[in-house]
Amino acid sequence: MRKKIVAGNWKMNKNLADTGVLLSELKVKFKEQPTAEIIVAPTFTNLYYAFEELKQSGIKVAAQNMHQAESGAFTGAISADMLKSIGVQIVILGHSERRAYFGETDVLLAEKVKTALKHEMTIIFCFGEELEDRKSGNHFKVVESQLKNALFDLDASDWKVIVLAYEPVWAIGTGETASPEQAQEMHAFIRKTIADTYNTETADEVSILYGGSVKPANAKEIFAKPDVDGGLIGGAALDAESFAAIANAF
Ligand code: PEP
Repeated sequence: MRKKIVAGNWKMNKNLADTGVLLSELKVKFKEQPTAEIIVAPTFTNLYYAFEELKQSGIKVAAQNMHQAESGAFTGAISADMLKSIGVQIVILGHSERRAYFGETDVLLAEKVKTALKHEMTIIFCFGEELEDRKSGNHFKVVESQLKNALFDLDASDWKVIVLAYEPVWAIGTGETASPEQAQEMHAFIRKTIADTYNTETADEVSILYGGSVKPANAKEIFAKPDVDGGLIGGAALDAESFAAIANAF
């Protein structure tokens, strides 16, 4: 059975002190392991601290990004080896903010994916259409090409460490959520596309998370859909109470 996952992307929020407070609250909230695997992605400067703090808790820690190169003259960048050396095994790649504000393309993301795989990391791969794509009815085509360009030259065995996060850009941080039906429709399409490209076993095993203004009030309905295996949560992950309520919405 595929994994249920609820991951919190903290983005560029929470300094060291605030990170400490949220981690302590999360440890209390998740004393009992929920049905879903819980992941948090603090900013780079607090990753090591978060990893050490959460070691015994069952909550996993992810990085929000990483560079595709092994090492070298890439000022400001963080490598897979650096993440692994502090214990971080999971990386979020392809978030729409990385694509929009840092110019990350499918081609670059394909490189990052390969580097992460080489380092045996788990990848939470984000993708999703913009509002114009949905309005013009191109959303399936856009999503299919994002997957194809970044992931479809991988071997079927690589998919064991890939988690997909479908995040329609128009729903991220906007308060606008895809309806549970829209999420299910797209998740089913994604799973079918993977089945057609690889095989049904690979498609059935991959966890597909939904992201975009998930809150305690809408999580239950979204997570109840058969092809939605959890969520990637932005804003609501910054508050322990809301994040725990979402994580317990299965
Ligand atoms: C995100 O950034 O991945 C996200 C889903 O954000 P929000 O939940 O705030 O829409």
